[in-house]
Amino acid sequence: MSENTPFVLGILTSGGDAPGMNAAIRSCTLSALQSGFRVIGFTHGFYGLLDKTYIDLDESTVRDIIHCGGTILKSARCPEFKTAENQQRAANNLHDLNVNALIVIGGDGSFNGMLKLSHYYTGQLIGLPGTIDNDIDGTDHTIGFATAVETAIQAVDKIRDTADAFERIFIIEVMGRHSGFLALNVGIASAAEQIITFENFENPGKELQKIAEHIALCKKQRGLSSYLIVAAENLWPGGVSQLAEDLANYANIRCTPCILGYIQRGGAPLAKDRILATKLGIGAVEAVIDNKTLIMIGESNRQTCQIPLTQAVAHQKTVNKALLAAQESVLDIAKLAKSHLM
Ligand code: ADP
Repeated sequence: MSENTPFVLGILTSGGDAPGMNAAIRSCTLSALQSGFRVIGFTHGFYGLLDKTYIDLDESTVRDIIHCGGTILKSARCPEFKTAENQQRAANNLHDLNVNALIVIGGDGSFNGMLKLSHYYTGQLIGLPGTIDNDIDGTDHTIGFATAVETAIQAVDKIRDTADAFERIFIIEVMGRHSGFLALNVGIASAAEQIITFENFENPGKELQKIAEHIALCKKQRGLSSYLIVAAENLWPGGVSQLAEDLANYANIRCTPCILGYIQRGGAPLAKDRILATKLGIGAVEAVIDNKTLIMIGESNRQTCQIPLTQAVAHQKTVNKALLAAQESVLDIAKLAKSHLM
């Protein structure tokens, strides 16, 4: 690397924003600057590569962003990037701009985009897992997951107050796309009476029967008081409003559906996400220096690790099955009341 032609590192954030993405941008930038790199941030996800829109990232750009949710680089879903023609165009633009390495902070969709880009782009490609869904293999947690769980718990705790006051049943839909990490963790931490997620869902008929029987049992043994069902999005056909309707039709049970929605994505990142993002950002630049490519930087058993991108998107990581089982055994207060009566 000569002084006149510095190594150029590109960074972009893509897909659903997650708290801690800014912390990751900051640590990548500072680490890269320490190594004498020029750092540029492409804006609006993969659109930045297609349109050559970027900003220079320096110490001042990344100052005072560690505590901010969202992403200073903006994010986007970019369906246009799915064509080979546009992947080639993005690669051409990266070559034109002399970008030697690109770090993409995003979820599995973004990593699939990187894998496609690698057919045309000759520079290094490093992924950082930034998604509230935690559905990336090879890392215990993704950047943003801890904050999203906490945000959702705070909302569910508030709903519990109303549910208690009115002795009502609420069905609360949480995000997670097609995985149950958010639903299970939020359900467990808010002491939900029922958690419906991908890993324990059989079919709508069986679920209706299970929920109706459980509500009836709780009512009989302890008076209903309040009853919270935490449900994963994209699970119940027609969503939680339909589930409420189905329960009314099935067993004349009245429920209030509540979709938490986008409040789960934003907000100041918790310390855990800021620190994870900082560690992974540093790890990403170390990987660039080591000439690595097509890997994701994750954290496993408190150690920073490098995972092939193909493995990161494999969807083999599952929720904690023991915790899921506990929800229907030791944590089930209906069962507790029953055994006490015997
Ligand atoms: P996330 O990265 O959070 O999973 P998405 O699934 O929306 O979010 O993916 C983000 C972006 O990654 C998409 O808008 C698209 O630009 C790109 N992408 C996703 N899948 C592919 C694919 N199979 N080929 C090319 N690009 C993809």
